[in-house]
Amino acid sequence: MISSDSIVALSSGRLPAGVAVIRISGPQSRFVVETIVGPVVKNRVAAYRKFRAPGGSVLDSGLVVFFAGPNSFTGEDIAEFYVHGGRAVVAKMLETIAGFDGVRHAELGEFTRRAFLNGKVDLVETEALADLVNAETEAQRRFAVQNAEGVQSELYLGWRRRLIHARAMIEAEIDFADEDDVPGSVAETVWSDVRAMIDEIERHVEGFRAAEIIRDGFEVVILGAPNAGKSSLFNALARREAAIVTEEPGTTRDLLEVVLDLEGMRVRVTDTAGLRETPGRIEAIGIERARSKAGTADLLLVLEDMVDPVPIGAIPADIPTLRIGTKVDLLRDESLATHYDAAISTRDGTGLVGLLAEIGHRAAAQIGEAGDILPSRLRHVELLNEAKRFLLAAVAGDERGQELRAEELRLAADRLGRIVGAVDVEDLLDVIFSQFCIGK
Ligand code: GDP
Repeated sequence: MISSDSIVALSSGRLPAGVAVIRISGPQSRFVVETIVGPVVKNRVAAYRKFRAPGGSVLDSGLVVFFAGPNSFTGEDIAEFYVHGGRAVVAKMLETIAGFDGVRHAELGEFTRRAFLNGKVDLVETEALADLVNAETEAQRRFAVQNAEGVQSELYLGWRRRLIHARAMIEAEIDFADEDDVPGSVAETVWSDVRAMIDEIERHVEGFRAAEIIRDGFEVVILGAPNAGKSSLFNALARREAAIVTEEPGTTRDLLEVVLDLEGMRVRVTDTAGLRETPGRIEAIGIERARSKAGTADLLLVLEDMVDPVPIGAIPADIPTLRIGTKVDLLRDESLATHYDAAISTRDGTGLVGLLAEIGHRAAAQIGEAGDILPSRLRHVELLNEAKRFLLAAVAGDERGQELRAEELRLAADRLGRIVGAVDVEDLLDVIFSQFCIGK
């Protein structure tokens, strides 16, 4: 696709900055560069130049790089200007470039959209680029980089190729059913491969929770009776005074959250209202929130004051839980500490390093092996599940005839194609590219 217009944007981050990168893509790029820096800019070689407005006044000086299409990010001619990162400099450069005929300011994600339309990246790689730009933790970066390089796409395209092959075999069998030299066992081989693929898809979809944890964080919820030491632990984890620590029972009524970067993983820790069996009315709201938050956690830290344990009623049984004895510094009978998974003191720091390591260990176990290929969007999971439904119908449907079953294989392959954008996905594009910032 050749666009008729060119787009320009600031592609680097917040101003002011040492350097700002202004990027233009489209057929006018070469003319813009030649007007602003003069002729002779070698393809893909940085040149230090004075940048001038068409009237001749100097705008700034800096590096310029020209990438002739189709060997560029978007597949079109691209030029990048590296200017001093001041607001006025950038504003003047953008205004000057957007003032050329056929050049306008880019919309959200428009550079990447052009890259997609020119076949430079597929949809999954596009989404991974958005993730890479937004990555804050090491796990997010690793995951995004792997997908941006096409690992996830290759999995879907591999399945799709297998289905296209399977369908061709079934259709050949339909066409040549009355000829002797097409062995009947071909169909059996095909259907057993389709069954294997259903299992592979199922296992892959199960990995979505791990992808969500990488992206949104591993949810840790602190529970316990009032005065168990929840806020003190929360503060120790946050290393700042985010919750009010007090000796009055029942003061942490709202949910407080802190996001930690633990060994490169995003971990969200929530402090909750103290759980007790006979709360006041307002306090009961906080307790209700605490229990509902606990129901969706990845890990519960159930705190109990070892010196003065107070019962807290039921906690969700199906969520992994660490029972933590607190205030170990006050404990005279050390054997009591053995009733807990860990014993801590926020006063002298006992057990905190070990507890953080255990949380990190649990989060890593949930995220799984770093090299796992995971579905990175709900969109992928939905299409994978649709594909799986067609495949299940296809393998089950013996009596409905081979034509219908071949059609179900086609529909399943189509769903896989939609994930990477190998089939018509016009309807998806606006949603996907709106996740980007301008200039990407
Ligand atoms: P929460 O109600 O569960 O959030 O409990 P807090 O964190 O507010 O702590 C209740 C009381 O226990 C406060 O007076 C804290 O100073 C005290 N406390 C918390 N952790 C420890 C600890 O490890 N050792 C000692 N000695 N006191 C603690």
